[in-house]
Amino acid sequence: MKKLLAISFLLILSGISISSCHFNSKDKKNTGAGLLTQKDIHSLSNGDSISIKHLDLDIKVDLVNKLISGQASWTMENDNHKKELVLDTYDLGIDSVKANGQKVAFKLDPQIKFLGSALHIPVKDNTTKVTVWYKTGKDARALQWLDPEQTHDKVHPFLFTQSESIYARSWLPCPDGPGMRFTYDARVSVPSGFLALMSAVNPQSVNDSAIYHFNMEQPIPAYLMALAVGDIAFKSIDDRTGVYAERGMIDKARWELEDVGRMVDNAEQLYGPYRWGRYDVMVLPPGFPIGGMENPRLTFCTPTIIAGDRSLVNLIAHELAHSWSGNLVTNATWNDFWLNEGFTNYFEHRITEQMMGKSYADMIWELGYEDLVDNVNDLNAAHLEKDTWLKLDLKGRDPDDGLTDIPYEKGSHFLKLIEISVGRDRFDHFLKHYFEENAFKTMTTEKFLVYLDTALFKDDSDLKKKININAWVYGPGIPANCPRADQERFVKVDSERDKFLLDTPVEKLATVEWTTHEWLHFLRKMPPALSINQMKKLDDAFNFTGTGNCEIADLWYIMAVRAGYSHAWPKMDEFLSSVGRRKFLEPLYGQMMKDPKTTEMALTLYNKYRKNYHPLAQESLDKIVLNHKPQ
Ligand SMILES: [Zn+2]
Repeated sequence: MKKLLAISFLLILSGISISSCHFNSKDKKNTGAGLLTQKDIHSLSNGDSISIKHLDLDIKVDLVNKLISGQASWTMENDNHKKELVLDTYDLGIDSVKANGQKVAFKLDPQIKFLGSALHIPVKDNTTKVTVWYKTGKDARALQWLDPEQTHDKVHPFLFTQSESIYARSWLPCPDGPGMRFTYDARVSVPSGFLALMSAVNPQSVNDSAIYHFNMEQPIPAYLMALAVGDIAFKSIDDRTGVYAERGMIDKARWELEDVGRMVDNAEQLYGPYRWGRYDVMVLPPGFPIGGMENPRLTFCTPTIIAGDRSLVNLIAHELAHSWSGNLVTNATWNDFWLNEGFTNYFEHRITEQMMGKSYADMIWELGYEDLVDNVNDLNAAHLEKDTWLKLDLKGRDPDDGLTDIPYEKGSHFLKLIEISVGRDRFDHFLKHYFEENAFKTMTTEKFLVYLDTALFKDDSDLKKKININAWVYGPGIPANCPRADQERFVKVDSERDKFLLDTPVEKLATVEWTTHEWLHFLRKMPPALSINQMKKLDDAFNFTGTGNCEIADLWYIMAVRAGYSHAWPKMDEFLSSVGRRKFLEPLYGQMMKDPKTTEMALTLYNKYRKNYHPLAQESLDKIVLNHKPQ
């Protein structure tokens, strides 16, 4: 997943404690990776002690009433003689349940905050099939139902899911933990004329029956279950890659993603074959709350990467890299999230380096380092030093609390340090084997460290001392040996910024060859508030107000709010109406709420556009804008 919540608004401790399930160490696990060393505290399911193999899903999507209903049928083996199968649910209406074809009396526990309700289903030793008839509720956190005006084309409604981290349970009853994998088949019925897509083998055009069949033959955890329904078109890139988008956006999206085929080739050269068949990208309508989601075979991505100049497609490198780190070798629990995201961030930078050159990748490393420094400072200020460890402790908390820069940036810098210490060839060889040997398995932090020691460090005590694993994995902040990228291109940017601040005429600045990343560094390192005159000079020369590049636009509007540069307001209004990505919305609304002169504007804009945002974005933005306490 890419990326990111503004950390200051995440830190809501729920204070609840979850009683641990009765995990018997003799139980056979279905993780394929031997025994887990920890219970997944974010799943109420006992799918780790009953072998759940396969899901047959048969659902109807009602876009008018905003409802999914149907049946989820689980194939299982009760080798451990359990008396019940427990599935995760969240706000689901359960109509009936059958075990081996016989109706059984099920029990649905009261809801426990973000964890939802455990569904208890009596089973026998010979139970091999459990079927649940259900419908989704109004609070389904995974589902965004878009009215036509909330889509790009503004003609038809649209539905998409976001199942990571623990939202799959809000649209199907399932064992919802990253350590529990299953294969699936699905039959999805949609209104006539609409296309349905899943994280599976997908259709490429609308059919007359409006019923679509899907198959995912590789076992995946529930957080990778995905569904999109809308007026969607497809365009091919090459024989194994392509793009889906709303009809009115498909040509732009196809142009922007021209290099995706080449990207898959580059990734394979680094770390071995792509194991999932096709790699397609679905460019979603604006309400998508995050950058991208690595749903297998079908990455979901934000339309904010459609910049018109292919400058932001490294986000796709991130989602593609998850086809190895995350989807193939999966973090066992959300406390081990850095194993998904740190590896993916590292891998993303390597793909970018192969395709764009070292000095370009170095800029992305450095911007990530700056994010890391900011994030560590925020967490320290909030007295949450332990949240800056790579190994997280999210007991009693929503796993989304762990969605900070730490797993991404501290994780990838840790791997970069190992690369530098052992040499790139040796590290690449190690990683390739790591992905091969652990494919379709689950990994804990502890198991990874043993693997690292056995396969790479091999009792080299000097090397281990130099890297100091404990400081990275079980220690706070940024360790002293954190590597930094070469600053070659940013040093030049710094010098142009200095000239601007010393009143050099803007047209004399050497900016002609700059990419998005140079502009981001140029703007990020400006003094806290520029004068209106300085803002105007920059805007006149570089047309920041109204730019189609969302990364630059967001930064610019934050600066405009700080400076009181009202010329940018109308375009900022448009931006907030058409962008749903939390990474952009949270800091911009947050900046407006900081100054009494702009809080009223924030409230007006938020009330106007709240309905356009995803329920997950609404949750975090409500805390920023509606529950804001004046300082
Ligand atoms: Zn990711």
